[in-house]
Amino acid sequence: MARRKKIYEGKAKILYEGPEPGTIVQYFKDDATAFNAEKKDVIDGKGVLNNRLSEFFMTGLTQIGIPNHFIRRLNMREQLVRNCEIVPLEVIVRNYAAGSMSKRLGIAEGMQLPRPIVEYCYKDDSLGDPLVTEEHIAAFGWASQQDMDDILSLALRVNDFMSGVMLAVGIRLVDFKIEIGRVFEGDYQRLIVADEISPDSCRLWDIETGQKLDKDVFRRDLGSLTDAYSEVARRLGVLPSNNVTKPTLIN
Ligand code: C5P
Repeated sequence: MARRKKIYEGKAKILYEGPEPGTIVQYFKDDATAFNAEKKDVIDGKGVLNNRLSEFFMTGLTQIGIPNHFIRRLNMREQLVRNCEIVPLEVIVRNYAAGSMSKRLGIAEGMQLPRPIVEYCYKDDSLGDPLVTEEHIAAFGWASQQDMDDILSLALRVNDFMSGVMLAVGIRLVDFKIEIGRVFEGDYQRLIVADEISPDSCRLWDIETGQKLDKDVFRRDLGSLTDAYSEVARRLGVLPSNNVTKPTLIN
């Protein structure tokens, strides 16, 4: 069997050259990292869950016309995605105060924000992904004004979709991060949602109990990460098939 060419290995995923031009195979690892990789562990099954959950969310985005990189799932840990040039920004949307925003501004975690707040961080691990303003983004040419208009619109549409999907299964979408990719079609470029959407990149709280069902379980040592992600997958009906009890026929 031919060995695939590894393009990039990140903290939670590996990218391989895809079978057709313009495609990439995205492999989900079991590695969990937090605080810019100061805290690390291997969590059995995390990659499988995130592969399925990202497939679920990206497919939903496609169904409502939000362009994204997902093509199809290949197996338990891999999906075929469109190759794109990643805009060097982490786009964060917040509905409730939490995490770094609560810390930075001294706002209690869980406070509902008067409207969704969109923040941008410059993607650079060696700098710890610092928060930047649109002035920095324009001055350093990371994205044009037209790109920023499109990115804001994509981020808010993803927020509306994700908030609704999670609300329907009793989960509050506190905040999330997405990454944006550029694809070139002839002389034109288009911006699409890329990377992944999973409990690694969202804050998800049970509406009734406030229980955390996302990566904060790992960051803050709150219990089993796979139990939390499995609960999200179970509620959405996307648990991996080997965990789903097969119906038995009764005569
Ligand atoms: O840490 P902070 O509060 O800024 O995170 C906001 C949201 O963005 C959280 O849902 C977090 O999981 C996500 N995030 C991420 N990757 C990062 C930074 C934040 O997925 N590098």
